[in-house]
This record gives sequence, C-alpha cells and structure tokens, in this order.
Amino acid sequence: MAAVRDNLIGIQADIAQAAERSGRNKEDIHIIAVTKYVTIERAKEAISVGIHHLGENRNEGFLAKFAEIRDSAVWHFIGSLQSRKVKDIIHHVDYIHSLDRKSLAKEINKRSKKTVPCFVQVNVSGEESKHGLAVEEVESFIKDLAAFENIQIVGLMTMAPHVDNPEETRPLFKKLRLLRDQIQKLNLDYAPCEYLSMGMSNDYEVAVEEGATHIRIGTKLVGKEI
Ligand SMILES: *Cc1c(COP(=O)(O)O)cnc(C)c1O
Repeated sequence: MAAVRDNLIGIQADIAQAAERSGRNKEDIHIIAVTKYVTIERAKEAISVGIHHLGENRNEGFLAKFAEIRDSAVWHFIGSLQSRKVKDIIHHVDYIHSLDRKSLAKEINKRSKKTVPCFVQVNVSGEESKHGLAVEEVESFIKDLAAFENIQIVGLMTMAPHVDNPEETRPLFKKLRLLRDQIQKLNLDYAPCEYLSMGMSNDYEVAVEEGATHIRIGTKLVGKEI
C-alpha cells in the first residue's frame, strides 16, 4: 500500500488546482481522512504526516481509534447515527456530519454538555438507498431546531452516488451549495451554515470546484485494509 504521505501530496496538488480553477483559496478546504477501512496504525500514520481531521462512520471504529489517538485529531462522525448510541460518542466527537432527523437532534441536545457543531445530511440525489433529508425539507427542519441550545448547524453534508464520470455529480454539489446559501440567508444565530461537507475519493475535485469546505477521503488517501 502506498504511503499516506505520497497519497496526500497528490490529493493536495489536485485540491490546489481545483481551487485555482474555481477562484477559491485552498486553505478553506479541509481534508478529513476517513479511516473506517484501515487499522489504528494507519490512522496514526495519517496524523504523523500532517492530517488533522479523522472521520469514522460507526461507533465501534470511532471509539477504537479515539482511544488511541484522542487529542491528536479533530474527530468527525460521518455515518448514520442511531439515537440510542449518541451517548457513547457524544463527548468525543468534534463534528457530526449526519444530522437527519429531529429525534436525533433531541438526543444530541440532551446528552451533550456543550454545543455540538453539526452538518445536516441532505439526500440531494434522491436515491432511496441514501440517508438524509430531501432538499425541500431542509429549511423547515433547520428552523425547527431553535430550541436545541446544544446544536449548532455549521453546514450541509451530502454523499453523491458512485458514478464512473465524476462530472455527473456536479449538479448535485451545486444544488447543495445553493441550499447552503439559502440557509445562510435566514440569519439564524444557531445555524451559521458556512460549510459544505461533500466530495469523496472519486469526486473530490468536482466537489472543490463547487465549493466543498470539507472533503471526506478514505480509499484514495489511507486505502482499504480491513
Ligand atoms: C466511506 C465514506 C467516505 C469515504 O469514501 P471513499 O470513497 O473511500 O473516499 C466518505 N464519506 C462517508 C459518509 C463515508 O461513509
């Protein structure tokens, strides 16, 4: 398996070029290394070459890596989260990318002792297999969260379908960006909604061109071992 350092250098160059093409500042784009398919050792290797953000999609994997790495990373929970499992991870996560229902917001709000920065997950493609709210539901969902003092909506997240030609995902990423702009205009103090979590191994360059601030990369950055 290639060294994480070599993969990272290639990805950073791609990001710099995509940012340049779209008139963006590359410093505004954060790489989250998705470590769900790799060992704790490999996650540590990512940290050692300068990755700051780690993402996991299941409680077990999250807790196993958190136990060893703790404060050396910023922790992103990116997978679908069961309400009854919120209490196991809530004191360790820095960001949750998968807020998609009010019952989950309620549980996060209840279990956390401090503000939790959350991304609202949106199913932009409308595929049935994907989690997330429909585009039309997002504004009223966010307006409805005002009473949850521990929830802060920092952005929107989506997962595009896997397609051979990443260009096909562009309209979906653009749609998420326009929705983000619409939410920002509401000027809700608990929903600054500045960020866009979109783009994975297959489509991060298009995502950056369309405004991604957080790209979640597993396979192409750290690989797949487990
Ligand atoms: C696995 C996963 C990723 C990373 O996928 P790759 O294609 O391996 O880069 C990103 N986001 C979510 C939500 C994931 O579950």
